[in-house]
Amino acid sequence: MGKPTGFIEHTREAAPNRSARLRVLDWREFHEHLPGDKLRQQGARCMDCGVPFCNSACPINNLIPDWNDLVYKNQWRDAIERLWRTNNFPEFTGRVCPAPCEGSCVLGINEPAVTIKNIEQEIIEHAWKNGWVTAHPPQHRTGKTVAVIGSGPAGLAAADQLNKAGHQVTVYERSDRVGGLLMYGIPNMKLDKKAVVQRRLTIMQQEGVEFVVGVHIGKDISIHDLLHKFDAIILACGATKPRDLAVPGRGLAGVHFAMEFLHANTRSLLDSNHQDGNYISAKDRHVVVIGGGDTGNDCIGTSMRHGCKSLVNFELLTQPPTSRAADNPWPQWPRIYRVDYGHEEVRTQFGHDPRQFTILTKEFIGDGNGAVRAIKTVRVKWENNNGKVTMAEIPGSEEEWPADLVLLAMGFLGPEETLAKELGLKTDNRSNFAADYGQFNTSVEGVFAAGDCRRGQSLVVWAINEGRGAARECDRYLMGSTTLP
Ligand SMILES: Cc1cc2nc3c(=O)[nH]c(=O)nc-3n(C[C@H](O)[C@H](O)[C@H](O)COP(=O)(O)OP(=O)(O)OC[C@H]3O[C@@H](n4cnc5c(N)ncnc54)[C@H](O)[C@@H]3O)c2cc1C
Ligand code: SF4
Repeated sequence: MGKPTGFIEHTREAAPNRSARLRVLDWREFHEHLPGDKLRQQGARCMDCGVPFCNSACPINNLIPDWNDLVYKNQWRDAIERLWRTNNFPEFTGRVCPAPCEGSCVLGINEPAVTIKNIEQEIIEHAWKNGWVTAHPPQHRTGKTVAVIGSGPAGLAAADQLNKAGHQVTVYERSDRVGGLLMYGIPNMKLDKKAVVQRRLTIMQQEGVEFVVGVHIGKDISIHDLLHKFDAIILACGATKPRDLAVPGRGLAGVHFAMEFLHANTRSLLDSNHQDGNYISAKDRHVVVIGGGDTGNDCIGTSMRHGCKSLVNFELLTQPPTSRAADNPWPQWPRIYRVDYGHEEVRTQFGHDPRQFTILTKEFIGDGNGAVRAIKTVRVKWENNNGKVTMAEIPGSEEEWPADLVLLAMGFLGPEETLAKELGLKTDNRSNFAADYGQFNTSVEGVFAAGDCRRGQSLVVWAINEGRGAARECDRYLMGSTTLP
């Protein structure tokens, strides 16, 4: 422990965000950085408590107290070495992880938690700046080949680990760019595509990972061809089936799934700085985003940058409390009311939080020419009768909201069926590819599954965890034993 009194002397200071008024004018990342001396003070707040709950709350078990201490002591090189033991891509998690570690920080029992996520991001950025992130191709090749299907964080983590173990890895991606939701889901202002995502992909290519884009396995190439060609396969296809909203008017123009909006926006931004017009524009439109979470919030931030006329976000559930409820004690993840970047931008520009809680969409109303004009809603109440939670509509609470762009962000229902059908793969009762956590092998020999296609819609950090785990088990399958963590 670097400074025994650090947590008494210093208060929490998180890295600031760029001004909400100015950042909506561009697509650059909204995160700023804390200067090195301030960051070291934040590292000094870590108490190095005997049982670091942060470490077990982190899905990849990052060695958080170790690197907090090393940052405090200005030993950045040691800090990055420690961070690399558990995390292939700290530059992604340091930007987009919701930081369950901070919800379990022991200091968080009676003081604001240590700024773990900021420290993680700065350690890796320090490493990039100092030229410590360089390609290390494996010294020996095993002669074994592995195909990874899907290039999101699960596929990338699996590919990185398997390549390190000396296998020849080919990653197939049906999109025109590598990265999965790191590229075409999470928008540029949260995770820069060229400066951050591509920077990492270039290192992986230099280390010998082969990426094949624009190839849809199951359509362009049969999965059986891959089974013959490769010694093993890792399915990392994500949970790409969006939940729909089957209410009258769903077919009207202007009602889109969130991913249609977000994917096209980032592609057009990267291809032409939006000059090609190949995206759904929210400019001068009344936007309603249905569903919260990261996807809903990213739709909000994107619409704000387009210059929407108004923005409302519908949530079916009740508004969470501002501090932990009695049934949500430390060290659980705090289920509290949070203001994310998109919410803050709407507040700054339009003077109100965009969220409307306990509201149910009943109908999309057309303008007479086939396009959506408004949404009809009703308020609901949630009741808990002896553990049975029910929702009831409140009579007389019907409302109509102007809407000429509606974005459906209500979650995802698992992977698409094509590959499972073609392979005869077992699926679980939520239609995910069935493979036990820790083993990751599917019902077909030599085929492993990792990330959202196995566990359902989740987080980048969980995808990294699963990609690493599937790589370990795949290596064991190929070689009879493994040294991968
Ligand atoms: C809009 C949005 C914002 C999010 N924001 C956050 C966030 O801020 N923080 C966070 O931790 N998590 C966030 N998430 C969740 C996180 O992005 C996912 O949990 C994570 O990306 C899952 O990784 P994955 O590798 O399993 O799948 P994905 O990232 O979904 O990648 C799967 C890839 O497989 C490809 N693919 C599928 N089928 C085939 C096929 N047959 N042939 C070839 N390629 C195929 C797809 O094109 C896709 O690129 C967000 C999710 C969304 C939708
Ligand atoms: S990956 Fe997420 S949970 Fe783990 S230390 Fe980083 S911010 Fe915390």
